[in-house]
Amino acid sequence: MAEYIPYGRQDISQQDIDAVVEVLRSDWITQGPAIQRFEKAVAEYCSAKYAVAVTSATAALHIACLAAGLGKGDILWTSPNTFVASANCGLYCGADVDFVDINPRTYNLSIEVLEQKLDRAEREGKLPKVVVPVHLAGQSCEMERIEPLARRYGFTVLEDASHAIGAQYKGKPVGSCAYSDLAVFSFHPVKIITTGEGGMVVTNREDLYERLVRLRTHGITRNPDFMTEAPHGSWYYQQLELGLNYRMTDIQAALGASQMQRLDEFVSRRRFLACRYDELLQGLPVTLPAQHSDTASSWHLYVVRLNREKIEKTHREVFEALRGAGIGVNLHYIPVHTQPYYQKLGFQWGDFPEAERYYREAISLPLYYGLTESAQDRVVDTLREVLG
Ligand SMILES: *Cc1c(COP(=O)(O)O)cnc(C)c1O
Repeated sequence: MAEYIPYGRQDISQQDIDAVVEVLRSDWITQGPAIQRFEKAVAEYCSAKYAVAVTSATAALHIACLAAGLGKGDILWTSPNTFVASANCGLYCGADVDFVDINPRTYNLSIEVLEQKLDRAEREGKLPKVVVPVHLAGQSCEMERIEPLARRYGFTVLEDASHAIGAQYKGKPVGSCAYSDLAVFSFHPVKIITTGEGGMVVTNREDLYERLVRLRTHGITRNPDFMTEAPHGSWYYQQLELGLNYRMTDIQAALGASQMQRLDEFVSRRRFLACRYDELLQGLPVTLPAQHSDTASSWHLYVVRLNREKIEKTHREVFEALRGAGIGVNLHYIPVHTQPYYQKLGFQWGDFPEAERYYREAISLPLYYGLTESAQDRVVDTLREVLG
């Protein structure tokens, strides 16, 4: 039986292992120097002023929304074609959530739909406070078109860049926040770099940064500048708001800092493999991932859409046949508004037809740093056989 090929996996080098072991032997296993090193590495890579490491991208989205002042009575919009966390962060804050249907070519939220929806929301007095563009598969949304809308309608832009560390938009790194207030990354093992579990918020705004740092650790400050009275002594701290414990450990941060040194190598391998898929899949009845000319994807995912009128099998049959043959395909994503929890909030099938159409056709093929060319050939050969 041929080896199972997963859709994604981490790559841990001896250098990564040594970096973690060094922390384990040191005085600080949390909140020590590795956190600062990792934050600095990400901020510098992205040309962002500030970075705050946390326990996951979910935690990052949560405190980013809190820092943006999102609360009860407010509204957050995101893409329906994302992991549930991009929407759940709004609900954690007590806000309402709504979705902006996707562009049928890039699969990111559609700017045209966003414009129309904002126009309607303004007339109805239901404008969003936060909009979360998700850079699906590592391809940036059209941020330059979102920024003027944010200014006109007064919402905060929070990029869910969980897929997109190492990607560029208009020649700048994703995470530079050139067109947004905040961006978050995920370091889950299937993502571009990993810390086991982990996430980060980047921003250029000092006010947001100060709040993010507090929110990461219970809403507590040790900085006298922010206190309501003079410190009682060197032990003194104040809790100014209700925060959380979302601190990353130094063990994880050491792995992250080491992985950052390999980021360009990771992304260039992914780009090479994506190009290779583009060539190998020519002539098959599938739509290849379209790339906007302003973007250079980090290629977290390689998604094909089945041209169903040219294929005898159903989407599900193709999917199961691939998995049966040891090809770990996956589906990103089940439209969030169709999840039972969101249906209970009032959403239903049919609400966001482009995201639903995509869901009935999409398949994520295996793509990761360690994928060999012969394994990739096997993926394509199997797909060709299955599609008949
Ligand atoms: C992975 C992912 C998240 C959540 O990341 P965690 O680090 O697992 O919390 C959020 N949004 C998107 C788009 C993701 O892919």
